[in-house]
Amino acid sequence: MSTLSLTSAMNNLAALVTSSGEAGDIVVRSPFDDGIVGTLPASSEADVARAFAQAAVAQTDWAARPVKERAAVVARFRDLLLRERDALVDCVQAETGKARASAFEEVADASLWSSYNARHASGLLREKRRQGTFPLLTKTHERHVPKGVVGVITPWNYPLTLPASDVVPALVTGNAVVLKPDSQTPHTALMVLDLLLRAGLPRDVLQIVVGPGPEVGGAVVANADYVMFTGSTATGKIVAAQCAERLIGCSAELGGKNAMLVLEDADVAKAAVGAVRGCFANSGQLCVSIERIYVHDAVWDEFVSAFGERVRQMRLEPGFEWDADMGSLISERQLDAVAAHVDDAVAKGASVLTGGNRRPDLGPYFYEPTVLLGVTDSMELARKETFGPVVSLYRVSSDDEGVKLANDSEYGLSASVWSKRNGPNVARKLEAGTVNVNEAYAATWSSHGAPMGGMKSSGLGRRHGAQGLLKYTEPQTIAVQRLLPIAGPADLKKETWAKALSAGSRLLNLYR
Ligand code: NAD
Repeated sequence: MSTLSLTSAMNNLAALVTSSGEAGDIVVRSPFDDGIVGTLPASSEADVARAFAQAAVAQTDWAARPVKERAAVVARFRDLLLRERDALVDCVQAETGKARASAFEEVADASLWSSYNARHASGLLREKRRQGTFPLLTKTHERHVPKGVVGVITPWNYPLTLPASDVVPALVTGNAVVLKPDSQTPHTALMVLDLLLRAGLPRDVLQIVVGPGPEVGGAVVANADYVMFTGSTATGKIVAAQCAERLIGCSAELGGKNAMLVLEDADVAKAAVGAVRGCFANSGQLCVSIERIYVHDAVWDEFVSAFGERVRQMRLEPGFEWDADMGSLISERQLDAVAAHVDDAVAKGASVLTGGNRRPDLGPYFYEPTVLLGVTDSMELARKETFGPVVSLYRVSSDDEGVKLANDSEYGLSASVWSKRNGPNVARKLEAGTVNVNEAYAATWSSHGAPMGGMKSSGLGRRHGAQGLLKYTEPQTIAVQRLLPIAGPADLKKETWAKALSAGSRLLNLYR
């Protein structure tokens, strides 16, 4: 599949953007060869307001449908994702330049997460009986009502997974959504909308607006009833401050500087294979990517040799075949940022075990998978997220030292521990929202029944699991008072009622 042959299919998606056409065009180019993937009309701030107004009208009918009906749309969407797998993978690759296997992971993840939503939404949203004040006197129920119109803002690195991760639970819980994907990867988001429409989603329930972050993203935050943001910690702080100003809720999935620990009793060969995936999947442009590896003294030599060898064997390739282990970076900006981190580290004394070079012979934004030794705190990449195919190896004299250094970070998104016996114990000591034992990142990410998200500067709230659906709702408590008012019968003396209540409370405490 060439970039050129995708173009006509891409142009059909332009009609799905909410745009009056007055804000100019956005030209999307492929990182593989800088060829044009497609041209879309940009959205103005007025278009964003119109998208929210249309979505709000559509939301009323959508929310009134039984949950099972909404879940059925999501189930059909899941099936369509698998049926249209090749077209989706082509589009993701054309927009991001990632390897085909990395693009396929997005389809797999989106369909598995949609499955979870389709299966569990009814149970999670069912009205539930809750403990009232006193048995018989107060009958209390908890229910969940949709927030209204949710604003979803997504980055470019997982252009299918991330919109699907956030749009699907917002929809199944009865909300409408206005989605703003990154301007480098909007066609993939439009394919998600196209598939949802084919699955039976009413036309205006999901709107897509396209355009520059501060203006169009800012307008999304200004109009939304709730915001789900994925992106950098710097932008996340701006978005969270705007939400605070409007007193609306938000959830934010942000950056990381994720650590991997190779413990004294690790299976080193397996850890080396896992580290290759953990550091270089999606060309290292993965929020849960490993950028620091702490290796116990006892296995240092063996690990460094095995890992270095595996990285040197990786196949870097452009194109739509399955063979590549790693593809391109997304853009010149990203390439320059990655190269600047490596150059700064080397200038300050780090050594390159393997990699460290741009590869213009493969494509404009290719960079080798790079392993650094001797990284110190004075180097930019020691603490800052690189968000590229670069990892630093550190030798530690005990597992506890590894834990201490792993936790010495402003971030706390994901971590990985390699050990034959001690993994879960060490995992419990790590300050990270998700910890993978004998896996790099995929075990927690694909455990869709459990929450995923960051501690410290890595985020607010969680996606996946029950929390990943219920955050798009307002809990509402309905309590029906029967027989007696809470303040007691009007004609009873206050002191008598206080005594009766105290006696009743003592009795209840024996049973509750
Ligand atoms: P970014 O913050 O620059 O952009 C993310 C999105 O926000 C884009 O759609 C952008 O247009 C929009 N945006 C930019 N400025 C905005 C503003 N002022 N108001 C509203 N929206 C605005 O992030 P990026 O560099 O494109 O993405 C990479 C970052 O995302 C990395 O730090 C990575 O770790 C993080 N990320 C986190 C997760 C996670 O689940 N924790 C997943 C993927 C990426």
